[in-house]
Amino acid sequence: MEQPKTLAEQKREALFYRKKNGYDRISPEERQAMTAYCAGYKRFLDEGKTERDAVSAAISLAEDRGFRPYVRGMALHPGDKVYYNNRGKSLMLAVIGQQNLSTGAHIGAAHIDSPRLDLKPSPLYEEDDLAFFKTHYYGGLRKYQWVTTPLELRGVVALTDGRTVPIRIGHDPDDLQLLVTDLLPHLGEEQSKATLDKAFPGEILNILIGSEPFPDSQGSDRVKLMVMDLLHEKYGFTEEDFISAELSAVPAYPARDVGLDRSMVGGYGQDDRVCGYAALTGLLEAERYPKTAVVMLVDKEEIGSTGVSGMKSQAFDTFMADLCAAQGVELRVCYEHSICLSADVTAAYDPNYASAYEKRNSALVNYGVGFSKYTGAGGKYDCNDASAELVAYFRRLMDENGVLWQMAELGKVDGGGGGTVACYMGDRNIATMDAGVPVLCMHAPFEVTGKLDCYMSFRSMKALFEAE
Ligand code: MN
Ligand code: MN
Repeated sequence: MEQPKTLAEQKREALFYRKKNGYDRISPEERQAMTAYCAGYKRFLDEGKTERDAVSAAISLAEDRGFRPYVRGMALHPGDKVYYNNRGKSLMLAVIGQQNLSTGAHIGAAHIDSPRLDLKPSPLYEEDDLAFFKTHYYGGLRKYQWVTTPLELRGVVALTDGRTVPIRIGHDPDDLQLLVTDLLPHLGEEQSKATLDKAFPGEILNILIGSEPFPDSQGSDRVKLMVMDLLHEKYGFTEEDFISAELSAVPAYPARDVGLDRSMVGGYGQDDRVCGYAALTGLLEAERYPKTAVVMLVDKEEIGSTGVSGMKSQAFDTFMADLCAAQGVELRVCYEHSICLSADVTAAYDPNYASAYEKRNSALVNYGVGFSKYTGAGGKYDCNDASAELVAYFRRLMDENGVLWQMAELGKVDGGGGGTVACYMGDRNIATMDAGVPVLCMHAPFEVTGKLDCYMSFRSMKALFEAE
């Protein structure tokens, strides 16, 4: 026979906040939907390993669902689906809502750039009969993780005749692979004494690209000649054309399930394509659009949201102003009534590095999408810090829609810190909340997320776009 609950037990239940593992709370149908969702997500990761490729992959998914390119001056009606491709590197999508834009838009913003090794403008050289590419790393990466990691090369070479040549080397399973070499442990005595940040200086991140000399040639640079000739044969460019190229070395392996239970996704560039994909699919799958729903997939977050394709760029304001103009609405009126979910990953609590976290306020894998009232470093510097009222709005919205969520701080106070695009939306007078998927080993060549959290991130976006 069941004992009646004591007063203390009743009070505990009524008054205390308890986090629960998402697996104890989702239905079998949701588990199935989660697995299917993550299969599509892994394909998106493999396709979109650079911001350019992520833009192309997103456009192709959107066009399949009836989105068409936005042209300035175009008449827009409720239900219309448009996108604007900003120079191939950031993407804005909108579904025109039932309500006028003077009542605000519901916006999901995520970034699609990730840390990687970019080729320098003059990358190609030969030393001691080996050919290499010089690189300049992009974003915050732990350099030791990138040596001996299989790499592929993606990007474009823009020629002076106006053509842009797409490059993808090392992606297909039987294609070649590239890498940055590391020292053998037998000779690593000196290196091992260096601190982590000193042991791998930026200038050793040189990518090995060849070893065979050009036949019947004399003198120096025979290996360099061989690789340059191969590139010229296949792509039609010469060494000088590297000057106007954007080529990035990214991990060559595909996204995979992680864990014997296949409960997690492992792969490159999940920060922040996991939220980019969630925002995009949330927009595509929403069943109603009371407000105009907007998704911004933005570049350059990893280096400060700068430049024409970053979140600070007026490209976003221009797109929004154009949508507003079609309805005779002023942009500032639209902004002051808008709500934005700034969807970016957060750190998942890792028991192996417990001292870096403050457990009570850390996001846990499989506890749902992580909402962050604030991010920042030190005394919350440079963060958005959503208002209590906005946090309450999202608590209610998530609970009403059965979206599993948790609160998340990036790590312990004064342990470091990080930012998102949220503050740049706040600067625009848009009420903005940070939310994203907790990630293990963020910025590593192989990052890990919980499938449940990926799926709930999608559900959070869909809920926002369907909200009144
Ligand atoms: Mn991020
Ligand atoms: Mn990041």
